[in-house]
Amino acid sequence: MGVLGGGQLGRMLMQEAVNLDIKLFFLDPSADAPCSKIANGFTVGDFNDYRAVLDFGKDKDVITIEIEHVNVKALQELRESGIKVYPGPNIISMVQDKGIQKMFYRENGFPTSDFILVSTADEVIQELKSKALVQKLRKGGYDGRGVQVLKPGDDDRVFDAPSVLEDLVKIEKELSVIVSRNSHGEIASFPVVEMEFNPQANLVEFLFAPADIEPRIEKEARLLAEELISTLGMTGILAVEMFLDKSGRLLINEMAPRPHNSGHQTIEGNFTSQYAQHLRAILGLPPGNTELIMPSAMINLLGEPGYSGEVIYEGLNETLAIPGVYVHLYGKSETRPYRKMGHITILGKNRNELKQKSKLIKQTLKVKA
Ligand code: ADP
Repeated sequence: MGVLGGGQLGRMLMQEAVNLDIKLFFLDPSADAPCSKIANGFTVGDFNDYRAVLDFGKDKDVITIEIEHVNVKALQELRESGIKVYPGPNIISMVQDKGIQKMFYRENGFPTSDFILVSTADEVIQELKSKALVQKLRKGGYDGRGVQVLKPGDDDRVFDAPSVLEDLVKIEKELSVIVSRNSHGEIASFPVVEMEFNPQANLVEFLFAPADIEPRIEKEARLLAEELISTLGMTGILAVEMFLDKSGRLLINEMAPRPHNSGHQTIEGNFTSQYAQHLRAILGLPPGNTELIMPSAMINLLGEPGYSGEVIYEGLNETLAIPGVYVHLYGKSETRPYRKMGHITILGKNRNELKQKSKLIKQTLKVKA
């Protein structure tokens, strides 16, 4: 199996692939990417480059991705030559453009925040006269970069590039559902998880599973994710990020057709991990049980602001001494402010215990240089 991207998601996919004795080969531009030392094969090359993807893919049986910013034209050709490409190139292409993605929700009747598509700063400034908005670059944004909340008067901050302008949602909770569909069309969703964001880094700060929501919302959210993957007809795993707004409505924010940050905790917290589920889906194997074994929390281990260079983990011993704590270091040798260097999963009986331990770990474990 060939994987475009050799980062932490690929690394955790590799860990599951070992159990099923599947051989994974990765393509990544960085010679010391997280997968480089543990893969069955690792090719240094640009997954956005047509030739590099074509050369990498031609001797593989199945190709998948761990990042969606890849060369779709090469994937289309590989598919035409008989190689299985999951998720399909058309789906990867759609999610690369937030504008096309939003249009898809609208045209297929999926609830999402109201929006318009714009091309220039002038159009944004015009819209900003009447209300606050969220501007998202249609292409190239990642992990909160290329997304900003604008208030009337913020004219000098607008991006001058093709964007989606969304109404500002009054968010009660940010939720995520991971759902899979295998090559025979069998669908399975994971229980809903709840995310707390760090506004500075614009990254998930804490994640809790299960989400603290009414059973009706749980059911509705999973059904939405299942309908979405079925409408897409895609094979593989799909992460669906949603907002529960203050009036109790669910809105789809965005989707990612690959393993996702909001599913890390499934490795220890659920009977089947999102990585195992992805492999099962693209190999046409039956979906595994998605139920929780125990409630869990996940925190991202980010590079401390103010430190860049060769990484040092402070407080690792103290963290490992806490019961029910699983440390995942991604094997990145260099840290930078807010860089994702690892994550911690915590298992516990209830939300209170999970929150206390998460806070303690945040104070104890620091990524410095
Ligand atoms: P990215 O693709 O970079 O992760 P998102 O679309 O997920 O960007 O946006 C990042 C964060 O910005 C969201 O998790 C949410 O907190 C906030 N956000 C995004 N869209 C809206 C919106 N329409 N209304 C209010 N907040 C939003």
